[in-house]
Amino acid sequence: MDIQTLAVHAGHQSESAEDLIHPVSPAIILSSTFQRNPDGSCPGGYLYSQINNPNRSALESAIAKLEGARDAVAFASGSAAMMAVLQSLKPGDHVLAPLAMYYGSRTMLGGIFRQWGLQTTFAPMDDLEQVSAAITPATRLVITETPSNPTLRITDLRRVAQLAHAAGALVLCDNTWSTPILQRPIEFGVDLVLHSTTKYLGGHSDVTGGCIVAAEGCPLTESIRHCQVVGGAVPSPFDCWLLMRSIPTLPLRVRAQSAGAAAVAGFLQAHPRVATVHYPGLPDHPGHRVAASQMELFGGMLSFEIAGHRAEAMAVAARAKLFTRATSLGGVESLIEHRASVEPPGSGTPESLLRLSIGLEHPDDLIADLEQALSGLP
Ligand SMILES: *Cc1c(COP(=O)(O)O)cnc(C)c1O
Repeated sequence: MDIQTLAVHAGHQSESAEDLIHPVSPAIILSSTFQRNPDGSCPGGYLYSQINNPNRSALESAIAKLEGARDAVAFASGSAAMMAVLQSLKPGDHVLAPLAMYYGSRTMLGGIFRQWGLQTTFAPMDDLEQVSAAITPATRLVITETPSNPTLRITDLRRVAQLAHAAGALVLCDNTWSTPILQRPIEFGVDLVLHSTTKYLGGHSDVTGGCIVAAEGCPLTESIRHCQVVGGAVPSPFDCWLLMRSIPTLPLRVRAQSAGAAAVAGFLQAHPRVATVHYPGLPDHPGHRVAASQMELFGGMLSFEIAGHRAEAMAVAARAKLFTRATSLGGVESLIEHRASVEPPGSGTPESLLRLSIGLEHPDDLIADLEQALSGLP
């Protein structure tokens, strides 16, 4: 079945034989607990909402299907999802992580999990020689994020999965920016897929959530599920419902956002006040060929460096009218952000860089807005 059809129907089938009515839009089951049968069994398998809830089951089933997997584990945020993966590792395990990665995950590895006894090395994931050299016999997990935040570096998922598996390590791909519409990492040998569902899956900037999808037979699946149930960083039924409301339009949104980003990237690349554009859809992007081999389109995210410094970048963001100045991404409204301002010191993000999340406005209007914002530079 095409992913566009799956997006509309996956997870929407009622699993409870008790249902007397069949609402076309699913009900939100707010109950925190469920009545048991006289023999002690739980109708539908539901016992207590922190452990499982019909809205969460539906969401997990839908995301797993989109990624071509059987198991998905939903969390209260993308960060909680990453925590559960790392908590499933043991003190002394080695993690290889990308130099270019979501700074929250980076902070987690360098702080909480350093105390926990995880050894982490950061390597440029687009340099396979360095990746290969950084894998040790203690490496248990290789983390990838492609395209990466905020400079859209591309990781060759097939090759990194081969290198990791040859050393007995598992591979996780943070697929938040690509979504399963553009890239399905499990098809390339990846073992675990992470989503911040706050972003494209939610798509409307009104829900915070996360998810881990596990390939069949992945040895960490059970302990990730255990962290979800025991740790309790679970999404509310309403959040799950919001996500289920958003997923049917995910393919259409992401494809339109990708087309918009490609148009904006082309405009920026030709602009005299722009020094560099980071967008994997541009033929001269260093990861273009690999991106084309593993992504359907190049996504709705891009960043660019102004010919200038922090003041010029801030001035462009300040003059934007259609683009909203805010962090986050993947919503229907376009956002512009000066990343260095929100990242911790030493993150390496250039002060001249602005990140764009392309929404669903017409690309001509977005380009006109950037044009007027850039024209204000002295
Ligand atoms: C936002 C984001 C996260 C963290 O997700 P939250 O839902 O904000 O906790 C992780 N990875 C990437 C790539 C992100 O963009």
